[in-house]
Amino acid sequence: MKPHTKIVLGLVLGAVCGVTANALAPDAAWVRWIGDNVAGPVGQVFLRLLLMTVIPLVFTSIALGVAGIGDIRKVGRVGIRTLVYFLLSTALSAAIGLGLVNLFQPGAGLPADVREQLMTTYRAQAQGLQAAGTTHFGIDTFVNMVPRNPIQAAAGMDLLGVIFFSLVFGAALTLIPEERARPLVRVLDAVGEAIVKIIDLAMKLAPYGVFGLIFFTTSRFGWGLLRQLGLYVAIVLAGLLVHGAVSLSLLVRVFGGLRPAVFWSRIRASVVTAFSTSSSNATLPTNIAVAEEELGIPPKIAGFVLPLGSTMCMNGTALYEGVTVLFLAQVFGVSLSLGTQVVVLVLSVITAVGAAGVPGGSLPLLMVVLATVGVPPEGIAIILGVDRILDMCRTTINVCGDLTAAVYVARAEGEWDPRAVTREPARLQVA
Ligand code: ASP
Repeated sequence: MKPHTKIVLGLVLGAVCGVTANALAPDAAWVRWIGDNVAGPVGQVFLRLLLMTVIPLVFTSIALGVAGIGDIRKVGRVGIRTLVYFLLSTALSAAIGLGLVNLFQPGAGLPADVREQLMTTYRAQAQGLQAAGTTHFGIDTFVNMVPRNPIQAAAGMDLLGVIFFSLVFGAALTLIPEERARPLVRVLDAVGEAIVKIIDLAMKLAPYGVFGLIFFTTSRFGWGLLRQLGLYVAIVLAGLLVHGAVSLSLLVRVFGGLRPAVFWSRIRASVVTAFSTSSSNATLPTNIAVAEEELGIPPKIAGFVLPLGSTMCMNGTALYEGVTVLFLAQVFGVSLSLGTQVVVLVLSVITAVGAAGVPGGSLPLLMVVLATVGVPPEGIAIILGVDRILDMCRTTINVCGDLTAAVYVARAEGEWDPRAVTREPARLQVA
């Protein structure tokens, strides 16, 4: 059996077993035991194997990417292209979400007793989010991107700090005499290759890890809630689907010159990893491997665009934030004018840039947006019970958006020819 078929099988089997266990024996001790002692640990080992490669991967790929681009002015141009694409695609995505939520008004029909019941159940969790102290967003968010100590930033998984240091380090390598820089570039090259090998090995565990992660989540999921919040969930999912199937496909076609069907068939490994881990950071290693080996994007572009994208380009998250803010405004009877909705759109895009690529990374910032436009932030309690399923889906779109950015930048820079990507079956061992 091909490796990628195995991973998809792990995903499907994990979901079927988890949903069945949840339906037949919702609170049974043995289901919990299997989740805690078998499925959970296997999933966590897989997740940790990927996460352990993230810091060295980000450092080597960005430093080598910048050094490989060479000319510092060219780095600036690639950087600006990348950021403009991130912002425009994210705004487009958020606009789709806002359009849908205005059209269907899912919050207007939520019964008051359901609202109260959800608020009571998830209030403590919502307060926990707020108390975590990460709900602040302001000028210091940008100042903090410059780390005081790069080692500390790495140890604390502060990806923006690590990215900043790596960008500056790569730029510095191009500014010192070439014969001085060359030995280090060769070392970084070898480190990068070894890390990719580790990812290759970790992906051998992927079918089991994915099974474990999905079983763990679905076996504990409150499906009853899904019914109560059905319209809201359906709108987020429909928005993500429209953005993926229509906007991202069009962007790939128009700016990348690549047939969308080919693009989607090639990036399957990224889709499955993002869906099962709910984390852009954890998917970054797979995403880089997919971009380079499946799409043939040169490492200096993939290594530059994708790490930035994993924390700064979150199409799905912005859409989700926009829909959720308007949904909760409708639930609480707060009417938001068109002007305020534009503010919601802008804030969704900015906070999506600032959100961490970890499960639920956007929730604290979502509370900031709610508070800014006058919707009670603790109202987030209402949607917490279904957040995981939405997180899996929005993370998938986040990661696919990053890949479309890499496709666009590589083509615009004349570094990549879409005709080299054929429809032939995926070659990537890890996929
Ligand atoms: N889980 C998302 C990601 O990693 C972030 C979020 O929207 O919570 O991309």
